[in-house]
Amino acid sequence: MNRDEGKEDVMSATYIEGSALTASDRCDRCGAQAYLRVTLTSGGELLFCAHHGRAHQNKLRQVALSIHDETDRIS
Ligand SMILES: [Zn+2]
Repeated sequence: MNRDEGKEDVMSATYIEGSALTASDRCDRCGAQAYLRVTLTSGGELLFCAHHGRAHQNKLRQVALSIHDETDRIS
């Protein structure tokens, strides 16, 4: 599990839907670095840190069209 930072490694990340999250993407709840991007069925987007993504995941699954999850990048 010795993965690279992957910040610019979008080309090989074909499993990722949409663009990768960066350090400038911030959790909507607390402002920490975001590791989840939730695309809502309504068309909006939400960003969450790992903590809040986990805290809200049951709710998010009900409203999300897709969830882009990079929490496995956290070592
Ligand atoms: Zn947060």
